[in-house]
Amino acid sequence: MPERSLTLMAVHAHPDDEATSTGGVLARYAAEGVTTVLVTCTDGRCGDGPGGVKPGDPGHDPAAVVAMRRAELEVSCAALKVTHLETLGYADSGMMGWPTNQVPGSFWTTPVDEAADRLADLIRQYRPDVVVTYDENGFYGHPDHIQAHRITMAAVAKTDVPAKVYWTTVPRTMFVEFGRIMQELGVEWAEPDEPGPELGLPDDEISTWVDTSSYSSQKFDALAAHASQTENIFFLQLGRERFAELMGLETFVRVRDTTDAPVPEDDLFAGLR
Ligand SMILES: [Zn+2]
Repeated sequence: MPERSLTLMAVHAHPDDEATSTGGVLARYAAEGVTTVLVTCTDGRCGDGPGGVKPGDPGHDPAAVVAMRRAELEVSCAALKVTHLETLGYADSGMMGWPTNQVPGSFWTTPVDEAADRLADLIRQYRPDVVVTYDENGFYGHPDHIQAHRITMAAVAKTDVPAKVYWTTVPRTMFVEFGRIMQELGVEWAEPDEPGPELGLPDDEISTWVDTSSYSSQKFDALAAHASQTENIFFLQLGRERFAELMGLETFVRVRDTTDAPVPEDDLFAGLR
């Protein structure tokens, strides 16, 4: 019987998050023969609509947004050669404080245990060796990202399946560099309105640095698949070449490990192959 291939599961909040924070590792590990499973928790209905219509504005039709974003997600998965796409179908909760947070069926109002049970079923089905999600702040405080973190950690505890669990992060030094380059390129760079929790981590707190530079073009294509969402446009404005120079590294914090692989490490599967 052929040996079962290694499996990576990425748990994300919205269609497009797979591309922005894990596009490189999804593409790289698929190319290395790893089975890749993407779990997208919400339907993205609070995103921009066709023609750039903003949520809450006249003409923003959530059902049309959901259909458009589902189609974009499939194009992105094809670009990244994701082996299995699973969607949990919760309603996008919108940004923190929006009335959509409290809409029945929103991901934010779904009990963690209930959603974690569904994710645990997927973990038992696919038996991922490595699971990737966000940190406890959902990286930047979006309720659906926080909820994705919560259900993932609960599902991991319920199943005890993955050998390694990671949270996505960005080195603070990279933020500074990125802001400088955006300014230099004259790209409009949306600074958060209010200073939120500090984003990213100091370099010495990052356990895992994965070189994804050979897969930057696939990551760019995956982001381009989600070009309807304004937050992706500034990445695309970089152009393919500059994007490749800047975005060829994805970084993580290892929060569960049964392999004893030494850190820092340069491979999510270190200790497993
Ligand atoms: Zn998101």
